[in-house]
Amino acid sequence: MGEITHRSKTRPVRVGNLTIGGSNELFIQSMTTTKTHDVEATVAQIKRLTEAGCQVVRVACPDERAARAIGEIKKQIDIPLVVDIHFDYRLALIAIEQGADKIRINPGNIGKRERVEEVVKAAKEKGIPIRIGVNAGSLERHILQKYGYPTADGMVESALHHIKILEDLDFHDIIVSLKASDVQLAIEAYRKASQAFDYPLHLGITESGTQFAGSIKSAAGLGTLLSMGIGNTLRVSLSADPVEEIKVARELLKVFGLSSNAATLISCPTCGRIEIDLISIANEVEEYISHIKAPIKVAVLGCAVNGPGEAREADIGIAGARGEGLLFMKGETVRKVPEETMVDELKKEIDKLAEEYFEK
Ligand code: SF4
Repeated sequence: MGEITHRSKTRPVRVGNLTIGGSNELFIQSMTTTKTHDVEATVAQIKRLTEAGCQVVRVACPDERAARAIGEIKKQIDIPLVVDIHFDYRLALIAIEQGADKIRINPGNIGKRERVEEVVKAAKEKGIPIRIGVNAGSLERHILQKYGYPTADGMVESALHHIKILEDLDFHDIIVSLKASDVQLAIEAYRKASQAFDYPLHLGITESGTQFAGSIKSAAGLGTLLSMGIGNTLRVSLSADPVEEIKVARELLKVFGLSSNAATLISCPTCGRIEIDLISIANEVEEYISHIKAPIKVAVLGCAVNGPGEAREADIGIAGARGEGLLFMKGETVRKVPEETMVDELKKEIDKLAEEYFEK
C-alpha cells in the first residue's frame, strides 16, 4: 500500500469520546432508519449497530420532536451521536442543547448571519464539531451556474464556501463530506478536497443502491479513496438494514489493513478437486469470526493439493482431505481432524489465538 497521504495530515477533531483525524484510526459510521422521535426503536437499532462494529451513529432530525429526543437517546447509547439537520437553525440549537456530539448542517443554508453565529456559539460552548455535507445533487445555485452541472471542482468550491463561513467565526472543528452517487465524481471530489484543506473527511457514496449493487459501488469508490490514504470516517450507504452497512465497511477496512479489531476469512473458490462442503463451511466460519475482535486470518480450503501453502498468510486454517480435514497454521499442517468435528476444532483454535492476542 502506498504512503498514507492525507489521512494522518488532517486536523484532529473530537466527536464524543473519539478523536477523528490526525493519526487516529478510521471510524465506521452508519445512520439509523427509525423515526428519531421513537426513542425505543432508535436506541434498539443503535445498539444493534454498535454490536456489529458501528463507532459513530447519525440520526435524522426533521422536526422538533426528533431534536427533543436526542438527550434521551444519548443517555442510552455508548457511541457518539451525530444529528443531521437541514436548514433549520432552531433544530440545531435544540440538538446541541440536548447533547449531540456533532451536528451535520451546512452553514451556508442556515440563512441570516445572526442564526449562523448562534449555532456556532452553541457548538463552541459545548465543544462539538460541525460536519459540512456537500452533496452533488444539491449544490448551490451560483456554483451550478458557474460549472453548468455538478463537478468535483464545484463540490470542493461548495465545501470551501461553507468552511469560510465557519472559519470567519473562528470555528475550526469541522469535518467535511462530498457525496455523490456517481462514483467517479465522488472520488475526484474527495481527492481534490484532500488537497484543498486539512479538515477530516467523512467518506460516502450516496444513494449507492441495494445491498448487492451498493456494496460493490461503495467498495469501488471508497476503496479507491482508502488506497490513496484519504478518509477519516466512512459510511457505506445501502438500501438495506444498516447493520449490513457496517459489515461491508468492516470488510473494506480489513482489505486496506485499516482495521485492527476484526478477523479475516480466506476461502478458496472451489474447483473439481474439492473434498469437503466448502461453501457452507466458509459461511459458518465467516459468521463465527464476525464476533472475533482480534486481527486473525482464518483460511478454509476445499482440498489439500495446494491448500495450506496457498494460504500461507493464514494464522489458522483447514483444508479438506478425503473424509477428514487438515488443520494448518502459517502454511504448515499441524494435525489431521475428522470431517465431522473439523469446524468445531477450527473454532476452538480461533478462540485460542484470539485469547493469545489479547494476552500479549
Ligand atoms: Fe480447488 Fe483445492 Fe484450490 Fe480449493 S484449494 S480451489 S478445491 S485446488
